[in-house]
Amino acid sequence: MAAQIKQSVAVRLADVCRYFGDVKAVDHVSLDIYDGEFFSLLGPSGSGKTTCLRLIAGFEQPTSGSIQLHGDEVAGVPPYERDVNTVFQDYALFPHMTVGDNVAYGLMIKKVPKVERQRRVSEMLEMVRLPGLEKRKPSQLSGGQRQRVALARALVNHPRVLLLDEPLGALDLKLRQQMQVELKAIQEQVGITFIFVTHDQEEALTMSDRLAVFNHGRIEQVGTPADVYERPATGFVAGFVGTSNLIGGAVAEQITGSRQTFTVRPEKIRMVAPDQAAEAGMTSALGKVRDVVYLGMNTRYLVELDAGGDLTVVQQNLEATSMDVLSAKGSRVKLMWNAVNNRPVEASGE
Ligand code: ATP
Repeated sequence: MAAQIKQSVAVRLADVCRYFGDVKAVDHVSLDIYDGEFFSLLGPSGSGKTTCLRLIAGFEQPTSGSIQLHGDEVAGVPPYERDVNTVFQDYALFPHMTVGDNVAYGLMIKKVPKVERQRRVSEMLEMVRLPGLEKRKPSQLSGGQRQRVALARALVNHPRVLLLDEPLGALDLKLRQQMQVELKAIQEQVGITFIFVTHDQEEALTMSDRLAVFNHGRIEQVGTPADVYERPATGFVAGFVGTSNLIGGAVAEQITGSRQTFTVRPEKIRMVAPDQAAEAGMTSALGKVRDVVYLGMNTRYLVELDAGGDLTVVQQNLEATSMDVLSAKGSRVKLMWNAVNNRPVEASGE
């Protein structure tokens, strides 16, 4: 069950800029994040995601523009007076304290009585699936377990918004995928707004209710994972979120009759014999297979088009073996896809 997303705005950035000298880390960003949403800030390194998160947390002040938390302007409000908590990539646990004391830390500061503290710590450790580990030290835990402790510590105060800065970045792929599922389940259980920074497009698509794609301090697109993947607004988004198949100008004109740049996802394209007739409503292009990469479940083909340019095609290996698919290299093929999959994009970005 998805968390209850309300129409009330939890975090509003209105035309926010944060410049460091000549560096426009955040450049005219406007964004509404709703109560109960799992919202990701996705973008390459240096695109301004972390600075955005730090502005919301109050560790940075905007150069211009305004930030609201639950309708209140937060200019000048220090981090500890904002109803938000942050989970950092390096966990930032206190090494000399036990797991229980680490989780209880925020409650101690707030002078919550001991019995109540213990109850809430056990409840949190239960939720992050670490029951009974109160007495361990962080050094006696695995990376994944430490990450869960950091999460329990950030949630124990029931903040209204949780900020997560690449929290799974230090974990190996398998653990990372497992934690993605668990983190999403925890978010749905607690119903708190999560704002999650990542440069990993798959992670953002898997976990988010909505996401914003950042490039050079600006937002290129905001939408649901399906919106952003199926209908990328710009060439940059098409390339960063998934494999880019961008065709424009004279090549586009030969294929679709228009010079408008478009993108088509590799898995939407069928590869057939060159003499097979194109069906109604389909776009087609002739070419030659330049490269074949066998990926086990799928095969990725790079096809050089007669019209110019390349298209990447991904096909499931339903019956084909690695020998079959590799022998396709060098052969002439026709590519066909439903014309509804041609997504016009702005050629801007990079
Ligand atoms: P990453 O994924 O690598 O963490 P990011 O998208 O989170 O990248 P930011 O950390 O927000 O990007 O940085 C955006 C830009 O602002 C970068 O060019 C960075 O070097 C610059 N920047 C960030 N903080 C500062 C600072 N305190 N002083 C000067 N420049 C900074």
